[in-house]
Amino acid sequence: MDKQQLKTMACEAIDKHAQNLHDFTLDVYKNPELGFKEFETTKKTSAFLRKLGLEVEENIAITGCRANTGKKEGQPNICVMGELDSVVCVDHPDAGKDGASHSCGHHIQLGAMLGSAVGLVESGVIEHLGGSVEFMAVPAEEFIEIDFRSKLIADGKIKYAGGKQELVARGFFDHIDISMMMHSSSHEEPLKAVLGTTSNGFIGKKVNFIGREAHSGGAPHLGINALNAATLALNNINAQRETFKDEDHIRVHPIITKGGDIVNVVPADVKMETYVRGSTIEGMKEANKKVNRSLKAGAMAVGARVEIQEIPGYLPLKSDNNLDELFKENLLSFIKEEEIRMGGAMAGSTDFGDLTQIMPGIHPMIGGVIGAAHTREFSMVDPNLAYIIPAKAFAMTVIDLLYDDGSLAKSIIKEFKPSMTRDEYLKFLEDSSTINVYQFEEE
Ligand SMILES: [Zn+2]
Repeated sequence: MDKQQLKTMACEAIDKHAQNLHDFTLDVYKNPELGFKEFETTKKTSAFLRKLGLEVEENIAITGCRANTGKKEGQPNICVMGELDSVVCVDHPDAGKDGASHSCGHHIQLGAMLGSAVGLVESGVIEHLGGSVEFMAVPAEEFIEIDFRSKLIADGKIKYAGGKQELVARGFFDHIDISMMMHSSSHEEPLKAVLGTTSNGFIGKKVNFIGREAHSGGAPHLGINALNAATLALNNINAQRETFKDEDHIRVHPIITKGGDIVNVVPADVKMETYVRGSTIEGMKEANKKVNRSLKAGAMAVGARVEIQEIPGYLPLKSDNNLDELFKENLLSFIKEEEIRMGGAMAGSTDFGDLTQIMPGIHPMIGGVIGAAHTREFSMVDPNLAYIIPAKAFAMTVIDLLYDDGSLAKSIIKEFKPSMTRDEYLKFLEDSSTINVYQFEEE
C-alpha cells in the first residue's frame, strides 16, 4: 500500500470518529482537574485507548497513562502526547472545583492525541509501518500549586514538580525516539497554525527574607526590616533589566507572597516567589546569577538573612526543523500556506521544552480557539481546526516517518544533536534543586 493510501485511511477513520472525539473533549473540558490530581481524566483517556484495542498502563506518575502499538525490535518509537491538567482561572465561566479550568486547552491536545490514535490504530494503518507509536497522556504541565507539589516531593511520591520531568526521571522516555504534541493558540488573522517557535525555559525561585521583629512604633531601631530588604531586592532586579540581551528573551516577574505579620511589628519574615525565564539555557543561568545578586544585595543593605530556594523549572523549547517541515507539508492538505507561520518566539514555558533538548520533537501551536491562554476569554470555537486537523496531521506525519521501514524517522534521529544526554539532563535537574542561605556579616 502506498503512503498516500495509508494517509487517506487514517483521515477517514478520524472523520468517522469525529463525534466520539467531540464528546470526549467536551467531557474533559467540563471536568477540569489540576496537576497530579487528574485521576478522572486519566480514566477517561485510558478507556478511550482501550476501546481501540490497546493495552493501557495507568497512573504512570501518580496520574497519566500510556499505550503502545507494539514495539518493533530495532525500529523507531514515536510518542504522541496530550496533557491532562488544567490551570487555575477562577474567573473563567466554565471554571470547576478550586477554580480549575481548561483555559490552556489541554482537553484539545487530548482530543488530537486520541484522534491520531484512531487514525493509526483503528484504521489498521500501523500494521503497515516500520515502527511503533506510544500514545501518552501526561500529568502536570502547568507549574502551579508549588506547595502541594513540594509536599508530594517531601513525601517521596514524586521527584520533580513537572509531569514530563518526572516521567523522564522514571524512565518512561527511555525507549522513545521522537516526541510530538501541540498547544492551542489564538492567532492573528489569517494565521491558523504556527510551527517551530522557541519558548522560554525558566528557573523557579522561592525567596525568604528573614529579619528581626521589633515594635514598629516603640523601637524600630532594634528591628531588621525584612520587607525593606525585599523591596530593595525588587529594585535591584529592575536595575538588571537593561543588561538582559534581547535575544535571550529574559523575563523576571517576582511577587511578594508574604509581606509581614502584623502592622505594628517590624516585618521579620517576608516571602517572595519568582521565575527567571529565558530562551537559552545559558541566558537563563546568566540572568539567574544577577537575580541572586540582587536578592543578596537587598538583604545586605539592611543586615537581613535571605534564603533562596531554586526549583528546576522548564527548559527552552527547541523544535526539530525536519519534523516541522514534515508537519507543515501535511497541514497543507487542510489549510493554506499563508495561514501557516514558521518560527517565532514564545515567552511562556512548557515542560515539553525539556524533551526537545534530549530528543527530536515538535510542538505546533494550532488555532481554533479565541482569547489568550490562562484567561477567562479562552474558548474553543472551531473543533475541526482545534483538534481534528491536528489529529490528522499527527497521524500523517507518523506515516511519513515510519513508512519504508522507518527510514525518515531513522535519518531524523541520526541527524539530531541533543544539547545533553538523558543522564546529563537528570543530573542537571538534580543540580538545579538548591537552597542557598546568605547572611551578611558585619565587619
Ligand atoms: Zn499548557
